[in-house]
Parts: sequence; structure tokens; C-alpha cells
Amino acid sequence: MIWNESYECMGREEMREVQNKRLRTTVEHVYHNSPFYRAKMQELGITPMDIETIDDLVKLPFTTKTDLRDQYPFGLFSVPMSEIVRLHASSGTTGKSVVAGYTRKDLSTWSEVIARTFTSGGCSRNDIFQIAYGYGLFTGGLGAHYGAENIGASVIPISAGNTEKQIQLMTDFGSTALCCTPSYALYLGEAIEDMGIKDKLKLRVGFFGAEPWTEAMRLEIEKKLNIKAYDIFGLTEVIGPGVSYECYAQKGMHINEDHFLPEIINPKTLEPVASGEVGELVFTTITKEGMPVIRYRTKDLTRLMYEPCSCGRTSVRMHKIMGRSDDMLIIRGVNVFPTQIESVLMEFGETAPHYHLYVDRENNTDTFDVHVEVRPENFTDDMSSMLNLRKRIEARIQSVVGIHASVKLVEPRSIERSIGKAQRVTDKRNLYKE
Ligand code: ADP
Ligand code: ZN
Repeated sequence: MIWNESYECMGREEMREVQNKRLRTTVEHVYHNSPFYRAKMQELGITPMDIETIDDLVKLPFTTKTDLRDQYPFGLFSVPMSEIVRLHASSGTTGKSVVAGYTRKDLSTWSEVIARTFTSGGCSRNDIFQIAYGYGLFTGGLGAHYGAENIGASVIPISAGNTEKQIQLMTDFGSTALCCTPSYALYLGEAIEDMGIKDKLKLRVGFFGAEPWTEAMRLEIEKKLNIKAYDIFGLTEVIGPGVSYECYAQKGMHINEDHFLPEIINPKTLEPVASGEVGELVFTTITKEGMPVIRYRTKDLTRLMYEPCSCGRTSVRMHKIMGRSDDMLIIRGVNVFPTQIESVLMEFGETAPHYHLYVDRENNTDTFDVHVEVRPENFTDDMSSMLNLRKRIEARIQSVVGIHASVKLVEPRSIERSIGKAQRVTDKRNLYKE
């Protein structure tokens, strides 16, 4: 075995020592190799000498998605490009997506944390892994792929989509483990139920993440596929999936805190919250070389649980994500900010800046409708010109945001005006509700 499970069961004091040392090394590394972080630290008047233990984390500057976008594409890399062996980018905008670069060591760290995820779910070299996360720039596919190879499992790199083929290989190859988004797992489960072939499957476990899902969804997936369904969390900026993972107790996700140091802050005051309270999750990577991040604000809301877990792991757990401190939506696995849609709509002179986004879920697939007002002078009964405008907006949303939206052009003044903060999104999925 090339990963070290002992880190998952280390004493708290011992873990703290590991974290202190790694944090010091990381701060030294970015101070000397990242002009971005050096400038940020100098602005605050601090040097690596000021950081001795993890209690000093609060002295360090935060990093935000905007910082990463401003540094697009490689501005946050802390090693020469010749050391980078892999590039990924988070879903979402084309020009402004967040890019992550990995050194060889970073890739090995990543496959180690995912290996921990899979072994904690009882998997080994005897498993056949069907990786139905998308392969490509998205971190899901390749992340899960190398983690499964790391434990010696047999890997089917089928990628996302093509449901018929998924089910055929699942039966023919006897897949025992499935990795995909929870909504796709449910979709597959339903298709399998309809085909009446549940008995033919050897599937016994699944690792689902990249989007929020509820306990109710878990129960449905477990029933439909007759498996144990585990949550896995991560984000491109930190490493990708595998930042934290559920054990068989299914009571929160164990954070790989020998690599990723968590904090919970109040998103308004930016001060740490009291232990156990809900707030915004912040991560500092303490072993990454290619693109370390210091106090990266995930905007995900959750709380940390330091109580011992019945599985015996001593690592801190995070509660299932409870919401977002910003307005980011995750639609069909793609991160969508309402402002991105707004800026697309503003490109069209024919539409007014009054719009409303509707997100729902039908047959386990997200639906996304964009209602936008046409300017009075452009509103006509000429169906073909309206159809043409609609198609142009849909194509532009697809190319900028990377997702299909159904655009509906509505009459001038038909979208409700607000006197306070405009409520521009109706998300009926209730994904963060228990
Ligand atoms: P990923 O490739 O894991 O989707 P992105 O960087 O595109 O990574 O998106 C990361 C965001 O996705 C997280 O900040 C979080 O909002 C969401 N996310 C990822 N995994 C989960 C999960 N298991 N539960 C809830 N939200 C998740
Ligand atoms: Zn546990």
C-alpha cells in the first residue's frame, strides 16, 4: 500500500504537530515562489516567521474565487511550468474558469486521498469500479480514476452519460462500485428499475459527490441500486474530489486534514466561529506544491465535528454541505452564478435587465429556465423574430456558462419588481434540506 492510513487515526496532538510543520513549509513555499501570496502577505506586514502553528492561520490572508479568476490562467502556480504535469479547470465560464495545476507529487496526494475514500467504503483490489463522472477538465473522472487504480481495483473509465451503455457494462462486467453525481446515480437507478434487472447487478457501493444531495436522496439511491451510498466532497481549487469523505457511519465527512486544513468562519465578519457552529468552510492546503491555496473561501456552509467517530478515525468531520454563502447554483453539475446569466442577457440589446431563473428537478435531471423581459420597442407578434432571439440567447448561455437553459421571452413589465434585494432565483430542488 502506498498511502498511509495511520494519518486517519492519528492522535489529535500528533496530527496538530504534522499540521504545524506542513503549514510552515507551505507558507515558506508560497512566500518564496508565489508573487501573488508574497504580495498579499507583505500587504498585511507578515512573513513566514510569523507563522509557527496552526493557531497563526488567522494572521494569513484569505483567497477567493475572484482572486483565482483574476490570476487566470496560471497566476497562482507556485512552481515553474515544467514541474506541472496536469491541468484541470472547474466547470462554469469559459474565459474565466478556475484553473488548477498539479505536480507529480500533487497527483500522488490526490490519488491517496481518494484511495482513503474508497477503502473507507470497504473497497479493495477485488472491486470493479465504474467511473461515470465526466472525464476531462472536470476533476471528477480522472480524480476517481487514479484513486481506484491506486487501491488496485479494476477501473472502467466509461465517463458520464450514455445510460444504456452504462447499464450494459455494469451487468456484463459485474461492476461492484459506482462513482458519479448523486443525481445521475438516481437516474441510473430508475432506468435499472424500469428494466427490471436489479437482480443481475453486482453493485454494492457508490461514491457520489460534486453537488449537494439530501438524506432522502441517499435512501432512494440505496434502495433503487441496492447499495451503500457514500458522500464525497471536494473542489478544484483545493485539489478536486477527495478533500473529505464519508465512512460507513455516514455521519459527516472525514476531512483529510493532514493535507487540507479546515476552518469555519462567519462569512460576514470573516472571524472564526465558535467550535461546532455553522459557517463558511475555508481550506488551506498544507502539502500541495503546484497550486497551494491559503485560506481559500469555499462559500460552502457547514460545521465541523471534532467528536470521535464510531469508525475509529480521529480526523475531524464536516457535516453535509448545508448551503452556500453566495448565490452559486449547481445545475447538472455545472457551477452557475446568476450574474453570469445576467451579463449574457445584457449583451442583447433587445432584452431588459429584468429576469428570473427557475431551477427544478424532473426525472432526476435538473431543469433550468430563464425568463427575461423583452424591451417594449422590441416586443413583437412576429413569432419568427422572437424565436430567433430566444435561440441566440440560448446559444450564448451555452457557450459562456457551459449549460443549456430554456429561455422564455416574456412581455415588458411582467416580471415582478422588488423594492429590496431582487429575488431573481427560484430553486425548487431543496437540495440543502435534510
Ligand atoms: P467538483 O469538481 O467537485 O464539482 P468544482 O470545483 O466544480 O468541483 O465545484 C466545487 C463545489 O461543488 C463545492 O464548493 C461545493 O459547492 C460543490 N460540491 C462538491 N462536492 C459536494 C458534495 N459532496 N456535497 C455538496 N456540494 C458539493
Ligand atoms: Zn467515521
